[in-house]
Amino acid sequence: MKTILAPALAPLPETSGYCPHCNKTHRLGSGRGYEIARRLIQWLTGSRTIALYARNDRGQTTPEDPTLATDYLWGAARGKMFGVMECLRPDGSVLTLYAFSGQYNGRWLVDGWVPPLFDVDEFITVTGDTEKEIKRLTEELAAYGKGHPEKTILRQRRRLLSKELTAKIHNLYRLHNFNGQSASLPEAFTGSGGIPTGTGDCCAPKLLDYAARNNLQPLGMAEFYIGRATKSGSYRHGDFSAPCAKRCSPILGFLLCGLADN
Ligand SMILES: [Zn+2]
Ligand SMILES: [Zn+2]
Repeated sequence: MKTILAPALAPLPETSGYCPHCNKTHRLGSGRGYEIARRLIQWLTGSRTIALYARNDRGQTTPEDPTLATDYLWGAARGKMFGVMECLRPDGSVLTLYAFSGQYNGRWLVDGWVPPLFDVDEFITVTGDTEKEIKRLTEELAAYGKGHPEKTILRQRRRLLSKELTAKIHNLYRLHNFNGQSASLPEAFTGSGGIPTGTGDCCAPKLLDYAARNNLQPLGMAEFYIGRATKSGSYRHGDFSAPCAKRCSPILGFLLCGLADN
């Protein structure tokens, strides 16, 4: 496993997004993001688990939950983006938040990591029934012979259902900003065209939303890739990057709104 990170030669990318409400771009710098990220990567490399709190009486890590092992990041699923954010509590003390993008090995919730922007139980309830129905339609489609007229109707029904499912999922997301406002994904999204799949699941939105909801003032943020490189090679272990343009930029204006501009 590669563990050594080259020192950041250039300043890390900032987090920014255009806010139509204020008619300006809100920004958050990286602060101490690089040092914190490097420490986290070292810790994960040594402990081989993302179970931040799984320690025994002697302070040693006890990686008992195999679903949290970092081996996952080096396997068939490849690596993923992680994020760190340093924040100030209202009493002036400093707190560091940690995030992984999307799910970790099929899990949305892991102790010590910020949660997704929706209620996980509600998400499972809402998506479960429709997904079952889509699966049933797919099986029914397969049962009909080639060119059967019924197939067109079933295909239309399936297309409509997945469109409805996407809309339902987008409305489950609740985004909070530093003005005390909240919005669904469609309300916060400023991009043109449809909302890409996975919008709101990256580290930047998770970290900002958590900070806003918990009265924490972000000081800096960094996002970086851990694990086996993506097939295209566009993300490699230890690479730092700015929040993505496709999914994150169109919601960052809303999420950063109300933060003192720096
Ligand atoms: Zn993103
Ligand atoms: Zn604003």
